[in-house]
This record gives sequence, C-alpha cells and structure tokens, in this order.
Amino acid sequence: MTKRVPILLYHVIGEAAEGTPEAFYAVTRAAFSEQMRYLAQRGCHTVSLEALADWVEGRGSLPPRAVAITFDDGDVTQHEAAVPILQEHGFQAMFFVTAARVGEPGMMGWDDVRRVEAAGMAIGSHGLTHRLLTELTVDEVRWELAESKRLLETHVMRPVQWFAFPGGAWSSGMPPLVAEAGYRGAVTSDVGYVARGVADRWWPRCVMRSTDNVSRLAELLDAPAWFLWRERMGQQALRAARSVLGMQRYEALKRRLVRRSHA
Ligand SMILES: [Zn+2]
Repeated sequence: MTKRVPILLYHVIGEAAEGTPEAFYAVTRAAFSEQMRYLAQRGCHTVSLEALADWVEGRGSLPPRAVAITFDDGDVTQHEAAVPILQEHGFQAMFFVTAARVGEPGMMGWDDVRRVEAAGMAIGSHGLTHRLLTELTVDEVRWELAESKRLLETHVMRPVQWFAFPGGAWSSGMPPLVAEAGYRGAVTSDVGYVARGVADRWWPRCVMRSTDNVSRLAELLDAPAWFLWRERMGQQALRAARSVLGMQRYEALKRRLVRRSHA
C-alpha cells in the first residue's frame, strides 16, 4: 500500500546558459528523458494533486508507486521539451506558471500554456511576479494570490486550484491567505513526502537539480531513512548560505557548485 508520495519539482528542461541562476536547477533534456524512462520502468504512475488531496483526506486510492510531477516558473522549455517526453510515457504533471511573466523572453506564451493544458497537464499559479511572499505585506500577498489565479483562469479557461510558493518562501501566516484566495492547497520547496492523514495541504516537494542523476531518483523513490536527513541538511546549508551571503553571492555560490559537478 502506498504510504507516502513524492512530488518531484523541475524547472528548466535543457541547457541553461552557464553562470545563470537557472543553471543550478536546469535538467538537460537527455537527463529528464532518462529520469522519466526510469520512473516508467519502475512501474511508477503519475497522479494529479487533486487525486493526491483526495487520498490524503482518506477518499479514493492511488495507483501503485504513485508520483506527482511539478514544474515551476513557466519556462518555455517545459512546453517544448518536457511535455513531449511526459506524453511518451502517458505521464501527467502540474505546471506552476508565474502569471505576469507569461510571454517574456524564455518563458511560455499564453498559447503555449493553453497547449500544455490541452496536452492533459494541469496549470497552477506560481504567483504573479515571482516576488517572495515572505517579503510582502499581507495586501500584496493577497494580490499575488488572487490576481495570478484570475489571470491564469481567464487565459486557460479552467479553475486554478493549486499554488506553488515562489522561491519556496512561505510562513505560517500564509495558509489562511491561500485558502481565502480560493486555492485547494499549495506546495513548498521544503524537502519531504506527502503522507495520508496529514491534514494540512502545504506539501513539501523533492527538487531535481542539474547535478542529479537516476541514482538519486532511485534513492528518492526508495526513501531510506537517511535520504531525507541528508537532503534537509543540504537544503539548510544552502538556505543558511543565502541568508549570510545575500541573494547575489548565493547565486554565485550555486554557479560554482554546478561548475564543480560538471568538471
Ligand atoms: Zn520559481
């Protein structure tokens, strides 16, 4: 019986220009393809966040080896590279789009977003401007939540039920605001799994980075006890570096980490 479900988080699918902040989370098309093939070979089934929410609440069941796949930001490579690969395996995924950045260079346009939805994928909100909600006033947070939802629903003509916090930044004051804006739930970038019976809908995810390979994906699915511990330590170290170094030098550190792993 399924006990806990990982939600994978991807960003750019392809080569991000070296030295850009995106490079840290860019997974090449070949690596993404290999990872999806691996999921299929292991008999994994992708599930929607809706199905996951029902299961968490004790309604309905999930297929064996359930996995949810999500994408943040709305990068154009998600439409061009990721969707065809997902379709090869009959996989579904949730795309969290930064609403006010649709149509910017390198991002999906509204036609692309509609095509992603028409390909059987779901669309969620990644905020309006990608500002970190923890740095905004309550009114600004309300605006980011409501206006991004309204804009996405107007263009996609579907209810937008899920929210992904930009930069993974959230605080305990956010859940009521997200609910008030009409979302069913939200996902963070904290590391972890979704478990049945856990009442809240603030789900952690497992972020995939440029340096990750199939063996990390295998660990992630097997979830040995040390896996979460090691992942959380790594994330804490990065967050500590971010608060000590400030955003600019933190991005420089991540660039060095990417270069070292590719060397
Ligand atoms: Zn983002």
